[in-house]
Amino acid sequence: MKVKIEPRDECMGDGICSDECPQVFEMDDEGLAIVTNAEPDESLREAVESAAEECPAEIIIIED
Ligand code: SF4
Repeated sequence: MKVKIEPRDECMGDGICSDECPQVFEMDDEGLAIVTNAEPDESLREAVESAAEECPAEIIIIED
């Protein structure tokens, strides 16, 4: 599984993804989300998919 945030400048800075899966997403100094682990373990799939579903900007992309 590969994870990215694109386009990142559309991030609303709400922190939903970093709350949902802090092993993969963090908020940077500007308040925008970054991916800290672009190829997370399968054990994190459920949390990453939840983050993607809940992202109001719909910019979290998961590639298998
Ligand atoms: S859930 Fe989406 S909009 Fe919210 S911080 Fe994460 S990437 Fe940004």
